[in-house]
Amino acid sequence: METAARTAPAAVIVAIDGPAGTGKSSTSKSVAAKLGLGYLDTGAQYRAITWWMVANGIDVEDAVAVADAAGKPAIVSGTDPANPTITVDGTDVSGPIRTQEVTSRVSAVSAVPEVRAVITELQRTIAAEAPRGIVVEGRDIGTTVLPDADLKIFLTASPEVRAARRSGELKGKDAADLVSTQAALARRDALDSGRKASPLAKADDAVEVDTSELTLDQVIECVVTLVEEKRTAA
Ligand code: C5P
Repeated sequence: METAARTAPAAVIVAIDGPAGTGKSSTSKSVAAKLGLGYLDTGAQYRAITWWMVANGIDVEDAVAVADAAGKPAIVSGTDPANPTITVDGTDVSGPIRTQEVTSRVSAVSAVPEVRAVITELQRTIAAEAPRGIVVEGRDIGTTVLPDADLKIFLTASPEVRAARRSGELKGKDAADLVSTQAALARRDALDSGRKASPLAKADDAVEVDTSELTLDQVIECVVTLVEEKRTAA
């Protein structure tokens, strides 16, 4: 037992940030599974609080009302990369948080500092409690939530590639879907990058990986190699 404890790799914290459609979720889940780490989708947490605001009739454009309600819902994330879960007040919201209604409102809710304070605290607690370490994906993980992460990755891809990937995930795709998906992504990126509170940004010490010309497997391999290099150096 003692030997196993001595030879087990130290917990490693990996932050993966970037805009929508860069492959963050697929990459983060696979890297976590391959390395035996936990996985946290922080976008799902912002979506969950947005879902709760909408379900409770709160006007998401009213920042004061959103701030007042920010501490009310109990959001719980399961961190198994093979089965990441998300509940609000005990209700499974993994389906409802992916609707167009939530997607179009989430940037307004996530821009409210009181919302970010609540969710950031949750994220830090989950990361600190992950026994073997965790891959945390989001927009501000390397800059704000976990500035001391062992490894920070910033994924990018061209707007065309991101829209094509995202509309490929939707049913009944066609050329019109692609154009509207690209416009919706651009709008969400502008809001997420332009907000005052903890905007989408690359940390100075993050490794930037442009995924436009890479397959998902290549991106996963690249990140796994970077984590292993960090572990060897530590
Ligand atoms: O990753 P996903 O596209 O599901 O994120 C949904 C939204 O959650 C983003 O558009 C952004 O407004 C918000 N978000 C954030 N900070 C994070 C993760 C997500 O503000 N760390």
